[in-house]
Amino acid sequence: PSLPALLREHIRTIPDWPKPGVQFRDLTPLYLDAGAFRRVVDALVQRHAGSDIDRVAGIDARGFILGAVLAHALGAGFIPIRKQGKLPAPTIGEAYALEYGQGVLEVHTDAITPGQRLLLVDDLIATGGTLSAARRLIERLGGQLVEAVAIADLPDLGGSAQLRDSGLPIHTLIQFE
Ligand code: 5GP
Repeated sequence: PSLPALLREHIRTIPDWPKPGVQFRDLTPLYLDAGAFRRVVDALVQRHAGSDIDRVAGIDARGFILGAVLAHALGAGFIPIRKQGKLPAPTIGEAYALEYGQGVLEVHTDAITPGQRLLLVDDLIATGGTLSAARRLIERLGGQLVEAVAIADLPDLGGSAQLRDSGLPIHTLIQFE
Protein backbone atom coordinates (compact mmCIF):
# COMPACT_ATOMS: atom_id res chain seq x y z
CA PRO A 1 0.00 0.00 0.00
CA SER A 2 0.98 3.66 -0.39
CA LEU A 3 2.32 5.39 2.71
CA PRO A 4 -0.89 7.42 3.25
CA ALA A 5 -2.98 4.24 2.88
CA LEU A 6 -0.73 2.43 5.33
CA LEU A 7 -1.03 5.29 7.81
CA ARG A 8 -4.80 5.42 7.45
CA GLU A 9 -4.90 1.69 8.16
CA HIS A 10 -2.75 1.94 11.30
CA ILE A 11 -4.05 5.12 12.96
CA ARG A 12 -7.29 4.72 14.91
CA THR A 13 -9.75 7.33 16.08
CA ILE A 14 -10.93 7.30 19.68
CA PRO A 15 -14.12 9.35 20.09
CA ASP A 16 -14.52 11.61 23.15
CA TRP A 17 -11.00 11.11 24.50
CA PRO A 18 -9.53 12.63 26.62
CA LYS A 19 -12.62 14.86 26.72
CA PRO A 20 -16.10 14.80 25.19
CA GLY A 21 -16.03 16.23 21.66
CA VAL A 22 -12.36 15.37 20.98
CA GLN A 23 -11.71 12.78 18.24
CA PHE A 24 -8.30 11.53 19.34
CA ARG A 25 -6.06 10.11 16.61
CA ASP A 26 -4.22 7.22 18.24
CA LEU A 27 -0.90 6.36 16.54
CA THR A 28 0.04 3.47 18.85
CA PRO A 29 -1.17 0.81 16.34
CA LEU A 30 1.30 2.29 13.85
CA TYR A 31 4.23 1.95 16.29
CA LEU A 32 3.07 -1.58 17.09
CA ASP A 33 3.41 -2.68 13.47
CA ALA A 34 7.12 -3.08 12.72
CA GLY A 35 6.72 -2.85 8.95
CA ALA A 36 4.48 0.23 9.02
CA PHE A 37 6.67 2.03 11.54
CA ARG A 38 9.74 1.26 9.44
CA ARG A 39 8.05 2.71 6.32
CA VAL A 40 7.43 5.98 8.18
CA VAL A 41 10.97 6.15 9.49
CA ASP A 42 12.49 5.27 6.09
CA ALA A 43 10.45 7.99 4.33
CA LEU A 44 11.59 10.66 6.78
CA VAL A 45 15.21 9.47 6.84
CA GLN A 46 15.32 9.58 3.03
CA ARG A 47 13.89 13.09 3.12
CA HIS A 48 16.61 14.36 5.47
CA ALA A 49 19.57 12.11 4.70
CA GLY A 50 21.33 15.02 2.94
CA SER A 51 20.14 17.79 5.28
CA ASP A 52 23.18 17.75 7.57
CA ILE A 53 21.06 17.57 10.72
CA ASP A 54 23.06 18.04 13.94
CA ARG A 55 20.27 17.36 16.39
CA VAL A 56 16.69 16.14 16.44
CA ALA A 57 14.41 17.72 19.04
CA GLY A 58 11.43 15.60 20.09
CA ILE A 59 8.45 16.93 22.00
CA ASP A 60 7.29 15.33 25.29
CA ALA A 61 6.06 12.64 25.11
CA ARG A 62 4.69 11.37 21.80
CA GLY A 63 7.42 13.17 19.84
CA PHE A 64 10.08 11.12 21.64
CA ILE A 65 9.09 7.90 19.87
CA LEU A 66 9.73 9.02 16.29
CA GLY A 67 12.26 11.71 17.25
CA ALA A 68 14.72 9.35 18.91
CA VAL A 69 14.53 6.85 16.05
CA LEU A 70 15.15 9.62 13.48
CA ALA A 71 18.07 10.99 15.49
CA HIS A 72 19.67 7.55 15.52
CA ALA A 73 19.08 6.94 11.82
CA LEU A 74 20.35 10.39 10.79
CA GLY A 75 23.42 10.17 13.00
CA ALA A 76 22.24 13.17 15.01
CA GLY A 77 21.98 13.86 18.73
CA PHE A 78 18.57 13.85 20.42
CA ILE A 79 17.12 16.74 22.45
CA PRO A 80 14.11 16.15 24.69
CA ILE A 81 11.78 19.16 24.83
CA ARG A 82 9.87 18.48 28.01
CA LYS A 83 6.87 19.58 29.99
CA GLN A 84 7.61 21.89 32.90
CA GLY A 85 9.56 20.55 35.85
CA LYS A 86 10.97 17.40 34.25
CA LEU A 87 14.47 18.51 33.19
CA PRO A 88 17.13 18.56 35.94
CA ALA A 89 19.68 21.11 34.64
CA PRO A 90 19.15 24.84 33.82
CA THR A 91 16.31 25.36 31.33
CA ILE A 92 14.37 28.00 29.43
CA GLY A 93 10.60 27.72 29.06
CA GLU A 94 7.81 28.80 26.72
CA ALA A 95 4.08 28.69 27.42
CA TYR A 96 1.73 26.96 25.00
CA ALA A 97 -1.98 26.24 24.60
CA LEU A 98 -3.36 22.83 23.64
CA GLU A 99 -6.58 21.57 22.11
CA TYR A 100 -7.34 20.39 25.64
CA GLY A 101 -5.47 22.36 28.33
CA GLN A 102 -2.27 24.39 28.51
CA GLY A 103 1.26 24.25 29.89
CA VAL A 104 4.91 25.12 29.54
CA LEU A 105 7.60 23.42 27.47
CA GLU A 106 11.24 23.48 28.59
CA VAL A 107 14.63 22.64 27.14
CA HIS A 108 18.08 22.47 28.69
CA THR A 109 20.00 25.65 27.84
CA ASP A 110 23.10 23.60 26.94
CA ALA A 111 21.19 21.31 24.53
CA ILE A 112 21.82 23.56 21.51
CA THR A 113 24.93 25.34 20.28
CA PRO A 114 24.12 28.44 18.18
CA GLY A 115 24.07 27.60 14.47
CA GLN A 116 23.30 23.92 14.87
CA ARG A 117 20.87 22.49 12.35
CA LEU A 118 17.80 20.99 13.98
CA LEU A 119 14.84 18.88 13.03
CA LEU A 120 11.80 19.30 15.28
CA VAL A 121 9.59 16.22 15.69
CA ASP A 122 6.14 15.54 17.12
CA ASP A 123 3.49 12.94 16.32
CA LEU A 124 0.63 15.25 15.32
CA ILE A 125 -0.17 18.91 14.62
CA ALA A 126 -3.53 20.21 15.85
CA THR A 127 -3.63 23.96 16.66
CA GLY A 128 0.15 24.21 16.22
CA GLY A 129 0.62 25.71 19.67
CA THR A 130 2.99 23.00 20.84
CA LEU A 131 5.30 23.19 17.82
CA SER A 132 5.22 26.97 17.98
CA ALA A 133 6.44 26.99 21.61
CA ALA A 134 9.13 24.41 20.80
CA ARG A 135 10.26 26.53 17.86
CA ARG A 136 10.62 29.59 20.12
CA LEU A 137 12.77 27.57 22.54
CA ILE A 138 15.05 26.40 19.72
CA GLU A 139 15.38 29.86 18.20
CA ARG A 140 16.08 31.49 21.58
CA LEU A 141 19.09 29.16 21.90
CA GLY A 142 20.29 30.01 18.38
CA GLY A 143 19.33 26.74 16.73
CA GLN A 144 18.63 26.70 13.01
CA LEU A 145 15.34 24.92 12.42
CA VAL A 146 15.55 22.99 9.15
CA GLU A 147 11.99 21.60 9.33
CA ALA A 148 9.25 20.55 11.72
CA VAL A 149 8.10 16.99 11.04
CA ALA A 150 4.97 15.26 12.26
CA ILE A 151 3.24 12.08 11.16
CA ALA A 152 -0.29 13.51 11.14
CA ASP A 153 -1.88 16.91 10.59
CA LEU A 154 -5.38 18.12 11.44
CA PRO A 155 -5.54 20.90 8.80
CA ASP A 156 -9.04 22.01 9.77
CA LEU A 157 -7.62 23.45 13.00
CA GLY A 158 -5.33 25.71 10.97
CA GLY A 159 -2.16 25.04 12.96
CA SER A 160 0.07 23.80 10.15
CA ALA A 161 -1.04 26.62 7.81
CA GLN A 162 -0.33 29.22 10.49
CA LEU A 163 3.12 27.76 11.16
CA ARG A 164 3.93 27.72 7.43
CA ASP A 165 2.73 31.33 7.11
CA SER A 166 5.08 32.29 9.91
CA GLY A 167 8.01 30.85 7.95
CA LEU A 168 8.44 27.45 9.56
CA PRO A 169 8.79 24.63 7.02
CA ILE A 170 6.39 21.83 7.99
CA HIS A 171 6.27 18.27 6.69
CA THR A 172 3.50 15.83 7.57
CA LEU A 173 2.69 12.40 6.12
CA ILE A 174 -1.09 12.28 6.45
CA GLN A 175 -3.96 14.72 6.91
CA PHE A 176 -7.18 14.01 8.80
CA GLU A 177 -10.00 16.37 7.80
P1 5GP B 1 -1.39 21.38 19.20
O1 5GP B 1 -0.47 22.06 20.13
O2 5GP B 1 -0.92 21.39 17.78
O3 5GP B 1 -2.80 21.89 19.35
O4 5GP B 1 -1.52 19.87 19.66
C1 5GP B 1 -0.55 18.92 19.29
C2 5GP B 1 0.00 18.23 20.49
O5 5GP B 1 -1.04 17.62 21.24
C3 5GP B 1 0.97 17.14 20.12
O6 5GP B 1 2.02 17.12 21.07
C4 5GP B 1 0.15 15.87 20.18
O7 5GP B 1 0.86 14.79 20.74
C5 5GP B 1 -1.05 16.22 21.06
N1 5GP B 1 -2.32 15.90 20.43
C6 5GP B 1 -3.40 16.70 20.30
N2 5GP B 1 -4.40 16.07 19.69
C7 5GP B 1 -3.96 14.83 19.40
C8 5GP B 1 -4.53 13.68 18.74
O8 5GP B 1 -5.69 13.66 18.28
N3 5GP B 1 -3.75 12.59 18.63
C9 5GP B 1 -2.47 12.57 19.10
N4 5GP B 1 -1.77 11.45 18.93
N5 5GP B 1 -1.91 13.62 19.72
C10 5GP B 1 -2.64 14.73 19.87
